Amino acid sequence: MTVRVGIACNSREVSTARGNVSAETVARAYVDATRRAGGLPLLLPVLDPDDVGPLLDAVARLLVIGGGDVDPRLYGAERVAECGPPDHARDAFEVALVRAAVGREVRTLAICRGMQVTNVALGGTLRQHVEGHSGDVRHRVTVEAGSALSGALGATALDVNSQHHQAVDRLGDRLRPAGWTDDGTIEAVESSDGRLLAVQWHPELFVTEPEHAGLFRWLVG
Ligand code: MN
Repeated sequence: MTVRVGIACNSREVSTARGNVSAETVARAYVDATRRAGGLPLLLPVLDPDDVGPLLDAVARLLVIGGGDVDPRLYGAERVAECGPPDHARDAFEVALVRAAVGREVRTLAICRGMQVTNVALGGTLRQHVEGHSGDVRHRVTVEAGSALSGALGATALDVNSQHHQAVDRLGDRLRPAGWTDDGTIEAVESSDGRLLAVQWHPELFVTEPEHAGLFRWLVG
């Protein structure tokens, strides 16, 4: 049976021929990367935090995708000037979704904002602005040998794109770092049971490269 992968949507305004409408969106690359790996993508709209249980009942895996900055108040900080405006509904929904998925031991891949919201959901904090990781940037990531991440990638180092301006600071509960850049930025974390992988880069954009595709094969496997 095809493995059902829930992809948490970004809730936002989109421009249409009849003006702006509120929409639940997922960049096509996440859908295609999931399907290419053999999973069946099911889009999960931003709903009330109380709805995450029934939503997770409908899927076997979870993919938490990129987006805007997490509200710093969720980790006890005041928003600095470089930090984008919060989306309270999405933050609350994804925090509840990640906590429930970890509690149920649902295999989860979290990408970019997904990694950041995962860390916050599990009690960690973020650096609200880091230099040198956004724009047209690629950089090397060193991966912890023997980690679940290295198993999924089939590598202990790789080149990645970098489109983030925030990063993990203090680690959340049950998380351990799994990848770093030379400047010391944490680029990947994983749960202590190896059922959750989170990366700061965007593997969905590089699925013709075996390491990046490996993350989606791990998710669906
Ligand atoms: Mn980076």
